[in-house]
Amino acid sequence: MPQKKTKILIIGGGFGGVYTAMTLEKLLKGDPSFEVSLISKENYMVFQPMLPEVISGSIGILDTIAPIRRLCPKTNLYTREVESIDFTNRIVTTSSGVRPRPSQIEYDHLVIAVGNITSFVGQSGLAEHALPFKYHGDALVLRNRAIHFLEEADIESDPELRRALLTFVVAGGGFSGVEAVAELNDFVRAAAHSFRRIKAAEIRVILLHAGPLILPELPEDLAQFAQKRLQRRGVEIRLSTRLAGATAESALIEGGDRIPTKTLVSTVPAAPNALVASLQCKKERGRIVVNKFLEVLDRPGVWALGDCAWVVDQNTWQPCPPTAQHAIREATCLAKNLVAGLRGQPKQGFAFKARGKLASLGHRSAVADIFGLKLSGFIAWLLWRAIYLMKMPDFDRKFRVLTDWILDLLLPQDIVQLKIERSASFGREHFEPREIIFRQGDCGDRLYIIIDGEVEIVKQESGSGEQVLGRVGPGGCFGEMALVNDNPRMATARTVSRVNLLSVDRDAFAALFAYHPPLRLMFQQLIEERVRGRAVEGKSALIEETKPLGRSQTTMS
Ligand SMILES: Cc1cc2nc3c(=O)[nH]c(=O)nc-3n(C[C@H](O)[C@H](O)[C@H](O)COP(=O)(O)OP(=O)(O)OC[C@H]3O[C@@H](n4cnc5c(N)ncnc54)[C@H](O)[C@@H]3O)c2cc1C
Repeated sequence: MPQKKTKILIIGGGFGGVYTAMTLEKLLKGDPSFEVSLISKENYMVFQPMLPEVISGSIGILDTIAPIRRLCPKTNLYTREVESIDFTNRIVTTSSGVRPRPSQIEYDHLVIAVGNITSFVGQSGLAEHALPFKYHGDALVLRNRAIHFLEEADIESDPELRRALLTFVVAGGGFSGVEAVAELNDFVRAAAHSFRRIKAAEIRVILLHAGPLILPELPEDLAQFAQKRLQRRGVEIRLSTRLAGATAESALIEGGDRIPTKTLVSTVPAAPNALVASLQCKKERGRIVVNKFLEVLDRPGVWALGDCAWVVDQNTWQPCPPTAQHAIREATCLAKNLVAGLRGQPKQGFAFKARGKLASLGHRSAVADIFGLKLSGFIAWLLWRAIYLMKMPDFDRKFRVLTDWILDLLLPQDIVQLKIERSASFGREHFEPREIIFRQGDCGDRLYIIIDGEVEIVKQESGSGEQVLGRVGPGGCFGEMALVNDNPRMATARTVSRVNLLSVDRDAFAALFAYHPPLRLMFQQLIEERVRGRAVEGKSALIEETKPLGRSQTTMS
């Protein structure tokens, strides 16, 4: 009878998970009594330290990611999302795949390395209008959006809108925020030369930071250097400034100020991954508490590491910071301890002295604090590139990145906008009081349904000023007349209070209108009422558009 295999299951395909699998493969040397599996949402590992360079295009889109199957060829890979963990029965449930059926995977040892997320909770409008900057797709979306808005600004004549299109705001003055703003600044300023109607002086790149000095993780003189270097290259740095929320038009600052912008990136704050939040185990600031061997407390056979774990360093007695350097060292320690436990050998507590900190400032400049040696400028930048190139886990990627860097020195900036995003048919939008949702004369592109808040419909009459036609509240809809009749908007929709909306684009509306008879009847009735209202009362029945959606449906039924 074949011997039962010991099943080691890793969740997470980042630094923590992949390096654990790589080390286990080395230690187990193909021993058939063990089976190592890894579940991750993506089939690649993202080399985050180089992510900012994807914005500027100095590294190719696919070159900062490495396929997990090639990094750990002896590990079974499940490209799925883990939905729940049953510690009692030692079962992990994943999302469904092509067949709409979840799958369950058993384990003897479980390693949790799911990282953390950028949280937009508690900041109104951020989920709808801000971009996170953590994964590969985020860098790509940001790059595409920046190019798109340069294209739009080049042909836009409204000075207000033009200003918002050419203002780029990044919130968070830590490593990822600073590196992202540096690359974004270099990129939009260099790319703008290719746009005939955009002047360099029109571009604003703003970094918001809650503290008194950016890069608080670095010695003060290096942080000062970084701050001055960014300012010299045109980045406006607003210190002691917190982002409070966002709308489709602006970044909202704590205290009431607002910055008109169409591009807002938020790199703060980090919050626990939803899976970690759902786990029944001891946590500290949302991270899973582990002992010095990286075992989860009171959960035998369960281990955790990386950004999602609360690991106390045995040298300093301080919790480890959420960095790739630490995740990689923890992975080696965890894999060795796991194998030592299986072989009845002693385990070792986790201790690691970070060798240094580096931040790239773009434009061939960086700051570095390596073994206590402080460097800044070009030398630090060369060091930054050399170190991260060495650290890339795959020779293939190392070669590609090196080639990208050489080509980037020789060739002009690439400003191709990849249209990979399918525009969302349905979307949520957030507005603050007295913001314009659409203007009279705009073309009808979306139908709006109010989730909460109040909107007024206003008509501008030449000579007689402004006339408020009606107000609409939660559950009400507006904006369908221009869609149905293919006319320009006959009035302006403006928020009265803070408003959250569901918006439906022209194609989705047309499909619903065409294929869902009750909805078609409802809108036909709305249109008839509007036309009647006009004929009888001599005023626009736009007010009729403001009927709650549910009520009209009830009327129809
Ligand atoms: C822009 C940026 C720049 C950075 N620069 C540096 C730097 O220069 N130096 C440095 O040391 N650190 C840097 N960091 C921090 C570093 O990237 C993280 O500390 C490191 O990635 C943590 O590794 P991890 O494995 O814990 O998590 P992650 O790398 O975040 O990996 C988590 C993995 O879990 C997967 N996952 C999450 N939830 C689930 C689920 N439910 N089911 C299945 N899979 C799931 C994710 O898809 C991902 O593959 C940077 C981070 C960012 C965002």
